[in-house]
Amino acid sequence: MSSQDGTVVRRRRMCFAVVCLAATAPLLSPGATAKDTEACTAGTTLRLSAPEASQGSLLLIEVKSTKPLAEVEGDWGGRSVPFWRDVAGEAHQKGLLGVDLEKAPGKYELKVTGQTASGEKMNCSVMVAVRKGRFATEKLQVGKQFVEPSPEQIKRADEERQKLRDIFDRATPERLWDGKFRVPLDGVTTGANFGRRRILNGNPGSPHGGVDLPGTTGTPVHAAQRGRVVLAEELFFSGNTVVVDHGLGIYTFYGHLSEIGVKVGDALEAGAVLGKVGATGRVTGPHLHWGLTVERARVNPLLIVKLLGNSSGEVARKKSSKP
Ligand SMILES: [Zn+2]
Repeated sequence: MSSQDGTVVRRRRMCFAVVCLAATAPLLSPGATAKDTEACTAGTTLRLSAPEASQGSLLLIEVKSTKPLAEVEGDWGGRSVPFWRDVAGEAHQKGLLGVDLEKAPGKYELKVTGQTASGEKMNCSVMVAVRKGRFATEKLQVGKQFVEPSPEQIKRADEERQKLRDIFDRATPERLWDGKFRVPLDGVTTGANFGRRRILNGNPGSPHGGVDLPGTTGTPVHAAQRGRVVLAEELFFSGNTVVVDHGLGIYTFYGHLSEIGVKVGDALEAGAVLGKVGATGRVTGPHLHWGLTVERARVNPLLIVKLLGNSSGEVARKKSSKP
């Protein structure tokens, strides 16, 4: 529809960089509603890494102020958005907006609120549109026990799903990672199957919540960044599994391992080996299933490498400041 197209075009132009210098160029004319436009208090700028989001994507938010910022918080449709201070300066904070794989397409208001070091309140409001993700449908034949599990297996899988949900519901208040995220297998830069809808032996299953990285059994699996191990055990569907908490509601998931090399509570440095590639659980062959959860949203993990990878000045600056 033309009206929808018009909205999309306008948003592309407006949403990418919201610069709000109210003293010289107010974005909101008196009487304009904040719902359909974007606004920040004077002296604050909000930028999104992309003008729109799609299911399973991740956006980087940058908030800059002319004054030092004491704290910044984000809310997107009732979900909190993790923010952290950037080393570039006290007047600059970054946040990650995770769009769950199955989030209903539509427009959602992102509200960012905070306070400057001198106690002045700041806020921004941006409408973020979510498009339907383009995901393939895959037909798979797997062992009958996985499609028609026994009552005991169903009970076990349900308990494990709840256990994972409980983990992802908790957000460690401090940021445990530092610098860029990496793909967990050496020499691998891309993965497949994210969001793929699977039809298992003719029955539709849940969408694929991670990427499958190619690897042979025994290949070392590295932690994508620094964090704490919060799960290290064999699960019904994902086999030998490790979950690492990176803080601020950000978790990475490593499945189908042939061996687990860590235990719950272990503090891992970025890149530490946490296990080996395998074919445990519901698989058709050895590979690493790698997942990323940001504030309970299942998103494509390769995007955090892209967003907090090469563009991140944190590591480079830290290294250059040390002898
Ligand atoms: Zn997988």
